[in-house]
Amino acid sequence: MKPAAQRTLLALRMLRETPPRLLWNFVVGAGLGNLRAIRRFERRKQHGTVFPPFVFISATQRCNLACKGCWATGVPRPVDMAPELLHKIVTESSAQGCRFFGILGGEPLLLPWLPDFFDAHRGSYFQLFTNGQLLDDALARRLRAAGNVSPLISIEGGAATYAARRGDGRAYGTALEALACCKRQGLITGVATSVSASTFADVVTPAFIDDMVARGAHYVWYYIYRPSGTEPGFDEALDDGQVRALRRFLLEQRRRCRAAVIIDAYWDHDGNALCPAATGISHHINALGDVEPCPPLQCSDARLDLAADVAATIEGSAFLKAFRAEVPTLTRGCVLMDHPAELAALAARCGAHDSSGRGSFFAELAGRPVCGCHNHAGPPMPETSWAYRFAKRHCFFGFGAYG
Ligand code: SF4
Repeated sequence: MKPAAQRTLLALRMLRETPPRLLWNFVVGAGLGNLRAIRRFERRKQHGTVFPPFVFISATQRCNLACKGCWATGVPRPVDMAPELLHKIVTESSAQGCRFFGILGGEPLLLPWLPDFFDAHRGSYFQLFTNGQLLDDALARRLRAAGNVSPLISIEGGAATYAARRGDGRAYGTALEALACCKRQGLITGVATSVSASTFADVVTPAFIDDMVARGAHYVWYYIYRPSGTEPGFDEALDDGQVRALRRFLLEQRRRCRAAVIIDAYWDHDGNALCPAATGISHHINALGDVEPCPPLQCSDARLDLAADVAATIEGSAFLKAFRAEVPTLTRGCVLMDHPAELAALAARCGAHDSSGRGSFFAELAGRPVCGCHNHAGPPMPETSWAYRFAKRHCFFGFGAYG
């Protein structure tokens, strides 16, 4: 017999478990708001201007864990973003139609002012990427009061994985407890898992999804491990067979699991690989204000500060413009993984500087082997669930970046 949560449709779960105000904010902020943001993005593109509908912001370089392969590690003097700059980015991006923001780190919950920031931006909706180590009942209650935050808790397999990759096996239990706190407060909560060679057997299983759903997750977001930082661990990258197995698994689970949404941002409705940054749908701003294609790709030719015009700075980035134009001619996959030398050449040609804070991004790039990524061999595997097919086709990735 399936676990109780698995027998319950997601919509019913949310109606039962989520306070009406939070549900309304989610539907308006993350649902309708995103649709409007995407329509405005498409209209802007027709007029030759590009400002992404989704902006991801790392509000700090500090973290309370030091996970192998993470782009946020190895920064000798990590900094926090000034709250005024975060306020400016969200305010000016909202004027471009953005409603939904990803807040990352480091670990963003190290910033004591963050809940007040969410309060001050009730017209926006925030996805909070967190390792969960600081997310206790009091904080979950605080996020419930703000009403416009969905925690996305990173859970990377079991305690053994945490001990090996994060240096602390107890962190796994704390992350699960954070999920329980969010459930008690009725928050709409996600679990993010980065699939690597050593976590594959743990997390690419129906049992993992069922366990996360039973613990309160409303969505499970699968990432493919992108080796980064000073200890990248290239042997942890997925091989092509594992990528295809992951893709098949996602399709099967979308048909099986009705109690949660299973998310990836790697394949369109027809199963063609894509890079979200190359489509222009999202960009990342680091804690210093550097605008980057995405978090692990740590180089930039555009910096935001309190005097900058956010839209003009992002639209004026020659590197981002060249990235959108040239990366689709190189790969439908992840250029960091499968064309690191070409990426280095593109960054150099555009005058992009190292924005990692480590001062070693280009040396790390030069030392990268070519790795496989989500642009797998063999025919594309289209979505087989009509709901996901509809959502991906109409809401997310019909941007024609790949001509
Ligand atoms: S470059 Fe790679 S990691 Fe970055 S958005 Fe594209 S596919 Fe994702």
